[in-house]
Amino acid sequence: MRDEDIGQFRQNLRGRLITRSDSDYDEARSLYNAMIDKRPLLIAKCVDTADIIAAVNFGREHDLLIAIRGGGHNGPGLASCDDGLVIDLSMMKGVRVDPARAIVRVEPGCTSGDVDHATHVFGLAVPFGIVASTGVAGLTLGGGTGYLTRKHGLTIDNLLEADVVLADGSFVTASENDHPDLFWALRGGGGNFGVVTSFLFRAHPVKMVYAGPIFWDAAHAREIMRAYRDFLPKAPEELGIFVGLKTVPSMEPFPREAWGKRACALISSFNGSETDGKKTLAPLLDKLPSPFFDWMGVMPFPAIQSMFDPIFPKGLQWYWKGDFVKDLPDEAIDVHIAEAAKAPSEISLMHLYPIDGAAMRVAKDETPWGGRNATFSMAIAAVDPRPSQAEKLKSWGRAYWNAVHKFNPGGGYVNFMDADEGEARVKASYGEHYERLAAIKKKYDPANLFRVNQNIRPAA
Ligand SMILES: Cc1cc2nc3c(=O)[nH]c(=O)nc-3n(C[C@H](O)[C@H](O)[C@H](O)COP(=O)(O)OP(=O)(O)OC[C@H]3O[C@@H](n4cnc5c(N)ncnc54)[C@H](O)[C@@H]3O)c2cc1C
Repeated sequence: MRDEDIGQFRQNLRGRLITRSDSDYDEARSLYNAMIDKRPLLIAKCVDTADIIAAVNFGREHDLLIAIRGGGHNGPGLASCDDGLVIDLSMMKGVRVDPARAIVRVEPGCTSGDVDHATHVFGLAVPFGIVASTGVAGLTLGGGTGYLTRKHGLTIDNLLEADVVLADGSFVTASENDHPDLFWALRGGGGNFGVVTSFLFRAHPVKMVYAGPIFWDAAHAREIMRAYRDFLPKAPEELGIFVGLKTVPSMEPFPREAWGKRACALISSFNGSETDGKKTLAPLLDKLPSPFFDWMGVMPFPAIQSMFDPIFPKGLQWYWKGDFVKDLPDEAIDVHIAEAAKAPSEISLMHLYPIDGAAMRVAKDETPWGGRNATFSMAIAAVDPRPSQAEKLKSWGRAYWNAVHKFNPGGGYVNFMDADEGEARVKASYGEHYERLAAIKKKYDPANLFRVNQNIRPAA
């Protein structure tokens, strides 16, 4: 690439263009998952839609591999690429809340914590995930599950409109009325169809919640997982609750006597009063033994949303596996417990997030998201600060997944997949919607310019 081409590109940007010779290149290319070490040629830190259009055009005209970076959280590091152009949106952090209409306009560099902060003051929240440092853009485009899913649906079920820069550099707004095919594909199809420059979400009344984690000794895991599975279909939708197999981290503020012990956890957020929350949880909790600790309490919604951020700072090693789980028979629970017991580190985990309630009231073909038939979305995350543990993390994640996948041999949530899944798995995850996605990909991105993602190939 000629220096004058790069110089011209730089002049076209209001934001910064970072190259390998810049002193902050290493910082700029680093991702949340430190297991990923990609070296792009150029990083365009965009500040507005004009920058994004310039970057898409430059990348296409110079035949560069293009990666799009929102929050940079994606497990397999699909926010970056080797030797190509990163369209980095992390500086685009505008949030505009319209409290009267309960809608929120969000720029693509926001984390869910940025949006929670802006909406909370108005007593509103958009359904996002359970860690506040996660990027809104990638989370939304893949689906988005969290504490509010049971009552208000997935993040995509609350998306009203998206502004998009397409592969040819043109700009469109996608909604139920404008480019409805593109709007359909964006709600689960990942970053395959263009660069989203702005999201418009519906928000819901959420202010103070009764929330927190309860951890038990893993010796009770069988009883807890069975009770959770049986309780969930009858539980009021104001209760967001997931079960996890974990280890009590050996750090404050966890009780010292439990440090390093295998645990089974229920982590909840009830959108209502403490009294109603306790009443709601009683049929589940009254049957269970005494926990290591019970940290349920009344707190602002952003507090539960960000409660686990300190345990998972940027720079850890991560390896992800996921599945959509329809059935959780007793036999599968036993396999989970056996595999989780082999976890290679204290912060490795398995979570089962419920897919029910409002997420199930959205018709299966209303969006391409492949989990509408599932009961849970499973995430196995092998995590450790030490780079030397990378191979151990991968082999535990793979072995665990291989042991449980036979109970639900379909696809999984694309946002919980790693880079080694392959095309067949992406197809399985979208199921019957894959062909329609491929046809829409052909219409909006026929040359597969946007392919650093869980890729949907343009239809032949
Ligand atoms: C600690 C942690 C907790 C998590 N918890 C949850 C959870 O509770 N619920 C849940 O649903 N998921 C969860 N996830 C998964 C999360 O949804 C994915 O990691 C997601 O990819 C993060 O989005 P991002 O913007 O940070 O990703 P990035 O890494 O920036 O991008 C991910 C993908 O999206 C594409 N993309 C990003 N921005 C745009 C854009 N503006 N336009 C087009 N394409 C774009 C990229 O090309 C890339 O393919 C969690 C992840 C982590 C690491």
